[in-house]
Amino acid sequence: MRRMKHVFASLLFLIAALAVAQEEVRTEREPGHINQNKFKQLYEEFATPNTYRSASGAPGPDYYQQQADYKMDIELDDKNAKIYGSETITYTNNSPDDLTFLWVQLDQNVRSKTSKSPLRDDEGVPVAEPVAKFAAKYMTEPFDGGFNIEYVRDANGKALPYTINQTMMRIDLPQVLKSKGQVSFSIKWWYNIPDHTVNRARSGYEYFPKDGNRAYVIAQFFPRMAVYSDMEGWQNHQFWGSGEFALPFGNYEVNITVPADHILDGTGELQNMKEVFSKEMISRYEKAKKSYDKPVIIVSQAEAEEAEKGFSEKKKTWKLKAENVRDFGFATSRKFIYDMQAVKIGNRDVMAISMYPKEGNPLWEEYSTKAVAHTLRSYSAHTFDYPYPKAISVHAKNQGMEYPMICWNYGRPNEDGTYSDRVKYGMISVIIHEVGHNFFPMIVNSDERQWGWMDEGLDTFMQYMAEQEFGVAYPEAIAPNSKYPSGRGEPTKIIPYMSGDQSTIAPIMSNPENVYQLGNNAYAKPATALNILRETVMGRELFDHAFKTYAQRWMFKHPSPEDFFRTMEDASAVDLDWYWRSWFYTTDYVDIGVKGVKKYYVSDKPSKQMREIMAARNIKEEDLPPLVYLEEEESEDADAKLKGKAPSENSKTLKEFMMDNMSVAERNAIKEPKYFYEVTFNKPGGIPMPLIVEYTYADGSKENVTYPPEIWRKNDQEVKRVVASGKELVGIEVDPKAETADIDTTNNSWPTKEVKSDFELFKENLKGK
Ligand SMILES: [Zn+2]
Repeated sequence: MRRMKHVFASLLFLIAALAVAQEEVRTEREPGHINQNKFKQLYEEFATPNTYRSASGAPGPDYYQQQADYKMDIELDDKNAKIYGSETITYTNNSPDDLTFLWVQLDQNVRSKTSKSPLRDDEGVPVAEPVAKFAAKYMTEPFDGGFNIEYVRDANGKALPYTINQTMMRIDLPQVLKSKGQVSFSIKWWYNIPDHTVNRARSGYEYFPKDGNRAYVIAQFFPRMAVYSDMEGWQNHQFWGSGEFALPFGNYEVNITVPADHILDGTGELQNMKEVFSKEMISRYEKAKKSYDKPVIIVSQAEAEEAEKGFSEKKKTWKLKAENVRDFGFATSRKFIYDMQAVKIGNRDVMAISMYPKEGNPLWEEYSTKAVAHTLRSYSAHTFDYPYPKAISVHAKNQGMEYPMICWNYGRPNEDGTYSDRVKYGMISVIIHEVGHNFFPMIVNSDERQWGWMDEGLDTFMQYMAEQEFGVAYPEAIAPNSKYPSGRGEPTKIIPYMSGDQSTIAPIMSNPENVYQLGNNAYAKPATALNILRETVMGRELFDHAFKTYAQRWMFKHPSPEDFFRTMEDASAVDLDWYWRSWFYTTDYVDIGVKGVKKYYVSDKPSKQMREIMAARNIKEEDLPPLVYLEEEESEDADAKLKGKAPSENSKTLKEFMMDNMSVAERNAIKEPKYFYEVTFNKPGGIPMPLIVEYTYADGSKENVTYPPEIWRKNDQEVKRVVASGKELVGIEVDPKAETADIDTTNNSWPTKEVKSDFELFKENLKGK
């Protein structure tokens, strides 16, 4: 008895040794693979949790954020396209640190004559250049669009010393701003407003030569406080143009003076409606507040067309007040048509609003406010109830840009009012996207300057869900029997990018200034990664709860990437370090296939490989415990008579075991798989994913099995699975519904499907003609 145990143990050791030998072969190919294991936890990549930020991904007990409150007087000089402003900033230092200086952002300096942005990039002579760009680049003086700072003064009106470094201004404080202290100071400035259609500025005007008017979409128009945080200290990275903004929360009181015939709206609630709205507008507004199903026109197209014929020399001041916002934007023109409706969000009413020149119609009147209202409902359901009183969509040529409660959107019909589906869907999508930015990053206030994906990726993912829901809510707005044609989010759509030239791909965890393809890098790939995470890796229930937890934990706060990654695990009990590591920290892609299938049957005799093991260890058959042997059908020893039979028919040992150990009832209930397959799956791609397999049997039935991604944790390149079945296996398909962004599907089937190249298809086509 003792000897037998010993032999058996040594036999098992041998079998294990064989497996280890296989692993060692792989180790040689990929030195150091243990440290590169995708399932290793992200302790080295993640910042250490502390009392500001907990390991759970929630704000810690000592979490703080600074506050910047603004009082501003702004005046627009419409004739000369200049803006004049003065502001008093009250800055509250909630940090534990004493501050000797403050950093203020002067974003318009990216357009100053001395801006370094145009000098930073590698350039060669272009083969062709759009005419306006060519003229601006080589034939005219650079536009002088930087801030002209007139003064910086303390609360007593005394000049404060300041230093401007490109787009950042340091104000040196005469006294240390102590932790928990507060300081007020004032700045006066002016700048030339750029034509945003020429240099793709994020704000500026569009000039309409036919009527001689401008439509303004104005943002980054005032010196704005930089963020001071536990993560970065001062976030004073320069604004080069791509990396967007990092801004603290605060309360705003803004008075904006514009020509009296302008219609203006912006961040915050209008404080003096009676002074700036006509009686007619006020009564229409009262109707709009009760209109939940469709927009009410506040300023009609006929009224706007009438207004654009004149040019009032009188002025009006619009007074807006906003609480707990991180920024401020406004739009103003005498060309604006204006409509709005109410949207029920929780137990509150929010106004969904649109402003557009006649050039946006008929498209804008039909879809803009509808898309705003839909976005507020959809995003609120997935995160938290939209907390602001309104959301405005402003039509501006080629724009897609977001601010709290207001955003600029493209989508312009042809001059005769016709438009293509591309223009229509592009417009609805950009409105959903930009209104959606109210949630990320305006409320869940991430640092856009450092992490483009935290707002763009999350927002594009939410946009995808909202678009699909739009198609369901408004089937008449899309093609019959179809889904909304989302441009980003579907797994297959990211394949061209992820399978592309590695020298032009950067990890998602990159600064937006340093990536090669910002649209794919910060928008499409993270959005797709989150969509796959929701649909395929976690499932909707676990994902949605965790995602909502993140949004609610960080609403009106400043989250870091780790806060997101940690919360998604914390609220779901799904270890996702492998997923973040491969999708967010590398440029790897997904490619999983089926490499081969071997068929076996049960036999009473040891196979050739087994006999070799026994001979090597000098083990005799009678020394062994009762064993069931498996013989490969293709082997020399294969016995035709034994194939496709019940195991107990082929193995006396098994039969005896059943008779000795099972009751009649148990024997009757037993299943006897007749076919045994060893299926080898391989993974040429670097990203481990759930192994999603569809097995097809001879009777046409199918079986779907999803092996967890951890199947790749010990062998990152190849894994085997045994399929024991009563039916003959005739087909295997990996990722049959194309849900993992697998870049090469030619290896996804067994038997291998003949996949014809485009060239082969082209040749066949020629022959046919
Ligand atoms: Zn965006």
